[in-house]
Amino acid sequence: MKIAIAGGSIAGLACALTLTCTGHEVLVYERSAAPLRGRGGGVVVLRRMLRFLEEHGHRTREMLSVPTHRRRWIDIDGHVTRDDPELLPFSSWDAVYRSLCSMLPPGAVHYGHTVASVAEDADGLELRFADGPPPAHADILIAADGTGSRLRAMLFPGNASSYAGYIAWRGLVNESAFKRADIADLIENMTLCRSQAELFMTFLIPALDGSLEPGTRRFNWLWYRNESDASSINSFLTGRDGQRHNVSVAPGELSAQSLAHLHRAAHDRLPRILSQLVAATDAPFLQAISDALSPSFAKGRIALVGDAACTLRPHTGSGTSKAADDAASLAQALAEPAQNVVHVLADWATARRAAVEPLLLKGPQLAQSFGLGSP
Ligand SMILES: Cc1cc2nc3c(=O)[nH]c(=O)nc-3n(C[C@H](O)[C@H](O)[C@H](O)COP(=O)(O)OP(=O)(O)OC[C@H]3O[C@@H](n4cnc5c(N)ncnc54)[C@H](O)[C@@H]3O)c2cc1C
Repeated sequence: MKIAIAGGSIAGLACALTLTCTGHEVLVYERSAAPLRGRGGGVVVLRRMLRFLEEHGHRTREMLSVPTHRRRWIDIDGHVTRDDPELLPFSSWDAVYRSLCSMLPPGAVHYGHTVASVAEDADGLELRFADGPPPAHADILIAADGTGSRLRAMLFPGNASSYAGYIAWRGLVNESAFKRADIADLIENMTLCRSQAELFMTFLIPALDGSLEPGTRRFNWLWYRNESDASSINSFLTGRDGQRHNVSVAPGELSAQSLAHLHRAAHDRLPRILSQLVAATDAPFLQAISDALSPSFAKGRIALVGDAACTLRPHTGSGTSKAADDAASLAQALAEPAQNVVHVLADWATARRAAVEPLLLKGPQLAQSFGLGSP
């Protein structure tokens, strides 16, 4: 089949790879004019995806992670309040993105192509793009256009994502920016600090070039904070160019006001071992945490994957692996020639919805247990 994918981030590229492995002709349309770079932080390693790729003859060494051995809670004075053994395999968004790109056939991704509309015709689907590129035809379309999915809104008018009541300030900072003694307690641990309506966490992820060598890695930190004041949210989501963003402000785009707020809050509210990470971060970024759930994960010849299908709360650490599972399961469902692809997609959608249900429930429960979000 000829399969079009709208969105060339983790979910879109994972689908492109698994569907190419199973013999389909796949074209990815990504609205960004150039490959995406350095957008994300840490992600939990995608075990099912690795298995799938290895079964199809790909080497997946690049997706390897920095293992963390302990989960340690510290209080505002920096004292350890809880310390449990826990092996968590963290990788980075960049490492996963880069290795997905490297495994795809050259030219598989068409940058600068924003899918603006889609219509069913006698041969399948016709995709139209914003800003000029000629229309394209496909047998099916995969919507991998993220949490604010335009395709989900088109397929299910009235369905919208909803703000969960808290934001995540985030950042990446080189391990080499600190004296070893100042960060010794953070190395290869996941460190968390919780106070009322706030949760800070940090762990090491690979260097931008994928290196796992001690001294070259990066700390990924996230600081969740309840935010219910509409004017503060509005101000944080307004970037330094004065543009109001929907749900996130990218690295380097935070306004001077937001940066000052972040630095002041970190100084006042975090133990020094953690506030030093925030202070040394060149380009912090921000995401408003929101929930999105498509009424169905397929409609006709269109399937929804990744955050476009449903956006999981980040505490489940599973958004990326869910996207990879979407990709692996979709390729398996479409591996055999089918009489009726609409039925195949509908069956896949029902099974996927059932599979992600526990994660959909777990996210808000975890948030609530941390005092995060609207009650
Ligand atoms: C604070 C936070 C922390 C997180 N932590 C983790 C973690 O620890 N572990 C983990 O596994 N996951 C984590 N996630 C989730 C993870 O980032 C995503 O679930 C995962 O990357 C899947 O994203 P996606 O590809 O579906 O969407 P996105 O990455 O949002 O990509 C959508 C793509 O579609 C493109 N696009 C949009 N509209 C169009 C259009 N009309 N036409 C063409 N292209 C379009 C966009 O440019 C973009 O490239 C976290 C998320 C947040 C917010």
